[in-house]
Amino acid sequence: MQNGQIGVTTENIFPIIKKFLYSDHEIFLRELISNAVDATQKLKTLASVGEFKGELGELQVKVNLDKEHKTLTISDNGVGMTAEEIDRYINQIAFSGAGEFLEKYKNQNSGIIGHFGLGFYSAFMVSDKVEIVSRSWRDEAKAVRWSCDGSPSYTMDDAQRDQRGTDIVLHIADDCLEFLEEQRIGDLLRRYCRFLPIPIAFGNKKEWKDGKEVQTDQPNIINDTNPLWVRKPADLTADDYAAFYRALYPAADEPLFHIHLNVDYPFNLTGVLYFPRLKTQFDIQKNKIQLYCNQVFVTDSVEGIVPEYLTLLHGVIDSPDIPLNVSRSYLQSDSNVKKISSHITKKVCDRLQEIFKNEREQLEKKWDDLKLFISFGMITDEKFYERAQKFALLKNVDGKYFTFEEYEKLIKENQTDRSKTLIYLYAANATDQYAYIEQAKAKGYDVLLMDGQLDPHLIGQLENKLKDSRFVRVDSDVIDNLIAKDERKEVSLSSEEQNDLRTLFSASTQNSSNYWVSFEEMGENANPVVITQAEFMRRMKDMASLSPTGGMYGNMPDSYNMVVNTSHPLVKAIIDGKNAALGQQLADSTKAIEPLRARVDELQKAMKEDSTQQERDTLNDARAQLSEQENARRELLKNFGSNHTLVKQLVDLALLANNMLKGEDLSRFVKRSIELIKAD
Ligand code: ADP
Ligand code: MG
Repeated sequence: MQNGQIGVTTENIFPIIKKFLYSDHEIFLRELISNAVDATQKLKTLASVGEFKGELGELQVKVNLDKEHKTLTISDNGVGMTAEEIDRYINQIAFSGAGEFLEKYKNQNSGIIGHFGLGFYSAFMVSDKVEIVSRSWRDEAKAVRWSCDGSPSYTMDDAQRDQRGTDIVLHIADDCLEFLEEQRIGDLLRRYCRFLPIPIAFGNKKEWKDGKEVQTDQPNIINDTNPLWVRKPADLTADDYAAFYRALYPAADEPLFHIHLNVDYPFNLTGVLYFPRLKTQFDIQKNKIQLYCNQVFVTDSVEGIVPEYLTLLHGVIDSPDIPLNVSRSYLQSDSNVKKISSHITKKVCDRLQEIFKNEREQLEKKWDDLKLFISFGMITDEKFYERAQKFALLKNVDGKYFTFEEYEKLIKENQTDRSKTLIYLYAANATDQYAYIEQAKAKGYDVLLMDGQLDPHLIGQLENKLKDSRFVRVDSDVIDNLIAKDERKEVSLSSEEQNDLRTLFSASTQNSSNYWVSFEEMGENANPVVITQAEFMRRMKDMASLSPTGGMYGNMPDSYNMVVNTSHPLVKAIIDGKNAALGQQLADSTKAIEPLRARVDELQKAMKEDSTQQERDTLNDARAQLSEQENARRELLKNFGSNHTLVKQLVDLALLANNMLKGEDLSRFVKRSIELIKAD
């Protein structure tokens, strides 16, 4: 019998372990099972080099619960330990500065324990007492029992154990009784041990017999010792990859592609990544990549470890170079982890490039599901953008796909404006913007479909990257101005006439302040009235709607342009009609307004800092008279406009063409149209 003190410098290390690992204390199970697996693999190694000559037998780690005695036991038939080894590996805690180290890191919640060889001691997070019963593989070895109740003193004694191997017996503390629940331990095993390389038996399999659940004598193996990612790609079929994906994510749709990672230099990395189908933001689920270290589960929250867009991928990454069980901030700054992350980026790009080169048809077919991922990458990661610009595709409204280079070639000739800017026309909704798309096509333009959630951002990014290029939505202006090639044609109306017509047309919209009426000579065949929304305004609104607070533009009403085609016969008829009905009154009004305006101008010019109150009053009087006259004119036109069936009809048709005529306005339009048809 040996009694002694565990070799740590602090008075009592256990309260510290218990306290600072509190939030994570379930990891004790992973630590102890990892040790058991390590011990088993060491034995295999000894056998393979011929040092161990006995029977390996069935190598297995067993986990058993005994609720009655409140114990959880982890047993292996690996190398075992002699008394000296226990002394060396357990009693003399691996490094002398342990206490100091723990003191320093105790505020970091996640465990650094495993990383620094204190894995075994995590058992004390959940136990009042821990026992080790072990017998070394060496022929002459005797079994020993080590026991410690959480104080720095332990006892060591002879024990009875017929076979080589180790039992770790945890006497579960009263505040940790959850770890005696089969459900809880089962969940933990599935989480941490699902792919360990040695079979893990959790009790025995159960069976239903005569309406009762009974134990069989078959061990209940909870893990897959040879998971897909450790196997050779050459030995695997597409079905194997699909089946593994289903096992990992039973609820997810079939993935688009997979990448099998297999690197041994400059670091070790294996894994399988899948591209999920991502149609909307709701499909985006981060934390789908699982990180393993030699098949031991480390974490499934890889944010900060890999670039954000890569967290959209699914699958498994396994690397002995990813430090097991250390804090998140430590992982992020670890240079190995950084290398791994840039390597994954490269692999992902290589794979996409390869698909692009060899199976472009496949890429096009799956593009719509892949696009969100690639857009996200291109927007958020410079390096990814550089690589992706070679295989990223643009889709036009006819469902054809182009690389950036191909597309530029396609539109260069016909879509360069007079200031040498290449205009990429796009639609955000092929149905809503149908009329505009058709007009653009009639001009020989090509129109891209940019209906993805990230497209507003992607457009911004592309405008930054593509030289002398601009994206313009098809409905942002009348067709002749979308790509301004020639000098703009001046409209032959005087500014007074334009003002009058503006009042007249505004009178027929409900919220006229949201529409700016302007005039263009668009030719007889173009529509008489067209509604457009300026690219800039719309983008600001779009961006605002993406940000949670909405920002300044979020609160602004939508504002549109109402473009009146003054060369259209119907518009000409409206102008003629107005002149016939109001000509005399308007001429009188002009006669009254002109001298008043001249007088206001004159008085205004004469104004100085030291003008007298009388002079100011005179100006204000003149202004009042002028605005009275102007108001009268506006009233006149408004009255005329608000009863003008044709104006109303044309404005409503323009709104209708834009999918903007709704509710009461729409129903009034329908009634009015029926009346018009009846009248014919
Ligand atoms: P680490 O696993 O990082 O070395 P641990 O504290 O988990 O640190 O374990 C300390 C040492 O104790 C191990 O390196 C190993 O030599 C020994 N050990 C622990 N568990 C077992 C076991 N089940 N069988 C044999 N040796 C073990
Ligand atoms: Mg360990």
